[in-house]
Amino acid sequence: MYYILAVITAVVLLMIFIIIRTFIFTKSEEIYEVINDSSPVNKDDAVKKLQQAISIKTISNSDTGQTDWQEFKKFIIFLENAFPLIHANMEKTVINDYSLIYKWKGQDEKLKPGMIMAHIDVVPVEEGTLKDWDANPFSGDIKEGFIYGRGSMDIKIQLITAMQACESLLKEGYTPKRDIYLCFGHDEETGGVDGAAHILEYMKNRNLKFEFIIDEGGAVNSGAISSVKKSVAFIGVAEKGYCNLKISIKAKGGHASTPPKNTALGMTSKVICDLEKHKMKKHLTKPSLDMIKALAIHMNFINKMIVANMWLFKPLFMKVFAKPGTTGEALLRTTIAPTMTHASMEPNVLPQVASFTVNCRILQGDSGSKLIHYIKDKCSKYDFNIETLRLDEPSNVSDYKSDIFKLVAGITLGIYEDAVIVPYLMVAGTDCYKFECICKNVIRFTPFFIPMKDMGRIHSTNERNSIENVENCVKFFTTLLKNC
Ligand SMILES: [Zn+2]
Repeated sequence: MYYILAVITAVVLLMIFIIIRTFIFTKSEEIYEVINDSSPVNKDDAVKKLQQAISIKTISNSDTGQTDWQEFKKFIIFLENAFPLIHANMEKTVINDYSLIYKWKGQDEKLKPGMIMAHIDVVPVEEGTLKDWDANPFSGDIKEGFIYGRGSMDIKIQLITAMQACESLLKEGYTPKRDIYLCFGHDEETGGVDGAAHILEYMKNRNLKFEFIIDEGGAVNSGAISSVKKSVAFIGVAEKGYCNLKISIKAKGGHASTPPKNTALGMTSKVICDLEKHKMKKHLTKPSLDMIKALAIHMNFINKMIVANMWLFKPLFMKVFAKPGTTGEALLRTTIAPTMTHASMEPNVLPQVASFTVNCRILQGDSGSKLIHYIKDKCSKYDFNIETLRLDEPSNVSDYKSDIFKLVAGITLGIYEDAVIVPYLMVAGTDCYKFECICKNVIRFTPFFIPMKDMGRIHSTNERNSIENVENCVKFFTTLLKNC
C-alpha cells in the first residue's frame, strides 16, 4: 500500500514539476527592441534595377572556360549606370576581374567596419526545363506582383536592395557611423574560390577586422514548422561543414562471363547501402536547441511541455523532429549523400576499381576527420581508398546575443511585426563562411518573406520574388545602415 502511495506521489510531483517548468518556459521569450524607420523607399526604382540585373546572364560554371565573361562585364557596367552616387562617393575595387568591393567611408575610423555581402553569379537553368517557366528566367518580367528570374531569390535581390539603400542615403547626404564595405563575389555558386576567397585576401592584406558581416542565408518564412502559425525569421548564425569524398574499392577485374563472388561494383553498392541505413549519430547543437525553444513558445501546450523538459523528453523529440529525409534530420546530424558512381567502361568488363562520391554536410560537434573515420569503418572489409576532394569544417556559431543580431532582429520586427525571431543553423553553404577569421559576428539573412511552398523555386523553375519583398529589403538595409 505504502509502495503504491509513494509511486503515485512521485508521479504527481513529477507532473507538477513538468508543468511548472512548462509555464516558466512559456514566459522565457527573448524580447527584441522593435526598430522602425519611416524613410520613404523608391520601390519602383529598386524593382526596375532588379529586373535589369536579372536580365544579365551572370551564370557561373565550375568549368570557368564555359563561363560567358562578357555578361559579368556587362553587369559591372550596369551597376555603374544604376548607382551613380555610389560610384562617385565610394571607393570601388575590382577583384579578380569580376568581383567587387565598395568602401563607404564612415564618420569614425576607430570603429571596426561592417560588411554587406551578396553574389553576382546565378545558377543556370537546367536543360529541358525552360518550357516550364511562366516567364523567361532572364527577363525579369513581372507577373501578378512577382519578378521572375534567376537571382530574384538567390541573390541579386540582396545585392540590388543593399545598393539601392546606399544610393538613397547618399542622396540624402548621409554618412554612416562606421566604414561600410559592400562585397560581391562572382562565383559563390561554384565555391567562391576566385571571388570571395580573393576578397578575403584583400581584407587580410589590409589587416581589416569587421564588427559584423551580413550575407545571404535565412529568410522570413511561413509554414516551415506546421505547429507554428506565425511567420518565422530564420536568422542564420552558423552553417554546416562541406565535404566531398571519393571512395574507391578495388577488386579482381577480368571477363564478365565468369564473375567472382564479389565485384568492385557490388562492394561499393554494399557500402552505399550501409551508409544509407546506418547514419552518423544525431546530436542537438546549441543554435538548433535555441531555435526549437524560440519556436516552441508559439506552439501548443504539449509541444511546449516537451521542449521545456528536454531532460526527460529529448529522445522522443529527436525521434519526432528528425524524421529521415527532413530538414529536421539535416539539422541534427552530419549527412552523407552518395551522388556519383563510376565503374567499368564496358558492359562485358569487370571493373578493377569502382568508385563513388559522397557529398557530406558536417554538423557542429563533428569534424572532417570524424566523418572520414566513420566512412573508413564502413569500408574496412574491402581494399579501399578515400580521396578528399573538398573539406570545409563546420563554421563557428555567431553570438546571437550580439548587438548586430539584436539590430537585425529589431529591424526585421519593424517590417514583419508578428514574426518570431530564431537563430538558425544553415544546412547549405555561403561565401561568408570564409570570412570568419576576420569577423566574429557573421549573420546569414535576407529579410524577404517566402512561404514554405515557394522554397522549392530557389535554384529551380520559376524562381521569383515579390515586389513587396524588394521594398522590404530596401527598407531593411536603409534602417540597418542608419543604426549600425
Ligand atoms: Zn546564393
